[in-house]
This record gives sequence, C-alpha cells and structure tokens, in this order.
Amino acid sequence: MIDFEIPEEDRALLDAIDRMMAREFPPEAYRQADLAHQTPWHLLPRMGELGLLALPFPEAVGGLGKDWRSAALVNERLAYHAGIAATLFGTTVSFGGMSLLNYGSGEQKRTLLPRLMEGRARFALALTESAAGTDAGAITTHARRTESGWRIQGRKTWISNADAADYLVVACRTEAGSQGSKGVTMLLVPRGTPGITMTGLDKVGHHCMPSYDIGFDEVEVGDDAVMGEVGQGFRHAMSTLHYSRAGQAANAVGQAQRAVDLAVAHAKERRQFGQAISSFQAVQHKLADMQVRVNQARLALYHLAWLIATGRPCRLEAAQAKLVATEAFQFVTRSGMQVMASAGYAMESDMQRMWRDAGLYTFGEGSSELQRNLIAREMGL
Ligand SMILES: Cc1cc2nc3c(=O)[nH]c(=O)nc-3n(C[C@H](O)[C@H](O)[C@H](O)COP(=O)(O)OP(=O)(O)OC[C@H]3O[C@@H](n4cnc5c(N)ncnc54)[C@H](O)[C@@H]3O)c2cc1C
Repeated sequence: MIDFEIPEEDRALLDAIDRMMAREFPPEAYRQADLAHQTPWHLLPRMGELGLLALPFPEAVGGLGKDWRSAALVNERLAYHAGIAATLFGTTVSFGGMSLLNYGSGEQKRTLLPRLMEGRARFALALTESAAGTDAGAITTHARRTESGWRIQGRKTWISNADAADYLVVACRTEAGSQGSKGVTMLLVPRGTPGITMTGLDKVGHHCMPSYDIGFDEVEVGDDAVMGEVGQGFRHAMSTLHYSRAGQAANAVGQAQRAVDLAVAHAKERRQFGQAISSFQAVQHKLADMQVRVNQARLALYHLAWLIATGRPCRLEAAQAKLVATEAFQFVTRSGMQVMASAGYAMESDMQRMWRDAGLYTFGEGSSELQRNLIAREMGL
C-alpha cells in the first residue's frame, strides 16, 4: 500500500518553503506583482539555495536523488503560497530539467543542469501555433539543415515567460513533408538569437506569467541545439509528460487548498442575519464539497507521484491526476467566489486571482477533453 507519512526530511523542507515564501513573496507582494504584471524571478535562485530545484535529479549529475513524491509535495506547498512560484518550479524541474535529463545531450546536461539546479537557467516551451493547439501534431514551424546546423522559420503563440527565458525549447518540423507526430525535433534556442521577434499577448489571468507570440525568421542554430534524436521530438516529449502532468496537478491542488482555506476563514468571519455565514448549512455544504474535491485530487496526485517514484506505468493516472486536480481547482475557486461574494470580487482578493488563473489549467498542457480521450484509450476504448 502507499504510505502517506511525510518523511521528516521532507517536513523540514516544507517548513523551509513556508519561511522562504513568507520572507520573499508574501501574499501582499503577490497581489502587487499580479496587478503590475511582474514575474517574481527572484524566487528561482532562492529555490536553488534550498535545494528544491535539485530534488529529483540523480546525484551523478549533482542532484539530490530524491524521488517524485518529494517533488510533488514541494510543488504543492509552493502553490499553496503562490501559484506562480509553483509554475516557475514546474517549468524548471518538470519541463526543463526532466527534458534535459531524459533526452538532452551530454554537453547540454553538463552545461545546463548545474545552472538549472541553482535557479540560474530559465526555459520556455515553444510548441503551440495558431493552428496547432490541442492538435500539437499540426505544427508547421520548420527547421532546415544548413552546413553547420539548422535554420528555423515559423511562428509560435501563447509561449509563457518567453521574454525572460534563457532558452526556448522549440518544436520544429525537420523532415520535409512529415505530418502529425513524425519528423519533429526539439531545438534548444538561445532567446537572443537573431531573427526572433516577440509580441506580448493580453489575457484574463496569470498576470505574473507573460505570454508571447513569437516569430522565427531564418533563425540559425548549431547542431548542438538538437535535444535528443532528430525527428523524435514528440516521442521524447511524451516520455516526460507524466512529470509535467504531476506538476500541473500539484500546482492545482496547492492553490485549490488555499482557496478552500480562504473561503472557510471568510465564512467564519463574515456575519449576516446576526450570525456567521458559516453557520448556514448551504454555505457549510459548499465548503464541504470544496474540501472533498481537493482531497480527491490530492489522492490522485499522491498516487501518481508514487507510481512515478516506483517506476510503474502511469499514463492513465497522469491524465487522471491532471484532469481531477485542475477541474477541482476551477470548482473550488468558482464556489469560493460564491461564498465570498463581493469580498471575493474585489481586486484585492486572492480568490479572484485564483479564479481567473484557474481557467487556464483545464486546457493548458493538454485539455480536460484530451485527458479524457487518453484515459478512454488506456481503458481500451
Ligand atoms: C496563458 C497561456 C499560457 C500558455 N503557455 C504555453 C506555453 O508556454 N507553451 C506552449 O507551447 N503553449 C502554451 N499555451 C498554449 C496552450 O497549451 C493551448 O492553449 C492549449 O494546448 C489548447 O490549445 P487551443 O487554445 O488552441 O485550443 P483548441 O485546441 O482550439 O481547443 C478548443 C477546444 O476543443 C477541444 N478539443 C480539441 N481537440 C479535441 C479532441 N480531439 N477531442 C475533444 N475535444 C477536443 C479542446 O479540449 C478545447 O476545449 C498557453 C496558453 C495560454 C492561454
């Protein structure tokens, strides 16, 4: 059976996160950053100092050799304090780090993993295009062979944190005439490479995580930009998807628990008709349903983390955890807005920010519909 006891070492780490977040990015700083559309990049080196970014990497590459259960707990706790902190952690560890570890070249690992673990290397994934969203296999951005490397031409859209990333991991079609998941290669492109242009996109939420439309006009990179095997980009990306799904689920669970706690505190405090609104059964049931949804999502996440940590197959469970947790996050923030009413609707409220931010999680990095498709396929349907 799965053991839910949190090891002493992990408890100490979670306490250290509480102290670091209270000092470096307290709730008021998050409110201000959200209003000012600023990214708290300073958190990444602080996470590096605590060892958080080295957790799941083997000691042979300078990591701490912990398993994915610790990473999930850390991700969840960061998200409880600030969704953007968990997003920065997840992009660095789940996406950047695990991609480098699993299919980066020896040189890429040697030069980038130490910086990544210190919180001094930033990555952005450039996959989505205007006609290739859920259907990622429809990408048309291509890279042609040159004498010394590759020349990239095309456009990507909705790329998070692209402006501040050191590297863009760009999915490019490298086999002329290929379609779908075939003939795609991941190229590691330094952000400042000539020929790259970026235009900011306005959006409803995630104001601490800017989004960009990116043009690649004859962008030249060397052969050393190739991550993994040429033409195997999708196969490589699939091999690390369970890490980013676990990351998304942990991020959603942490924020969802914060939303429940905020709503409970408000309901106990707010008085109407001469009593706390928490004494009305209608409100109690709403709060009970919210906590149950978060607990269900947490179980799905911990189950997934255990499967990853013990090296078991987890395609269905990764889709399940992502689906359950992101839908729970939307459910609890919508319910939380109802419980808090005008107090939640005010821009100074953390509930409205989480309600706006929650919108992305059920379609970003594989929509709920796609997760259900995957689960059905795993069920043999
Ligand atoms: C704030 C933000 C940040 C993002 N960050 C990044 C990033 O860093 N890097 C990156 O590459 N992309 C990023 N994206 C893009 C994101 O991954 C896409 O929005 C997502 O893949 C969905 O694509 P789409 O928006 O084009 O929706 P569509 O693909 O047009 O989907 C629309 C609807 O149709 C449904 N649908 C589509 N196909 C099927 C199907 N086969 N079965 C059932 N239903 C289906 C979808 O589930 C959805 O409900 C970001 C987007 C946003 C808004």
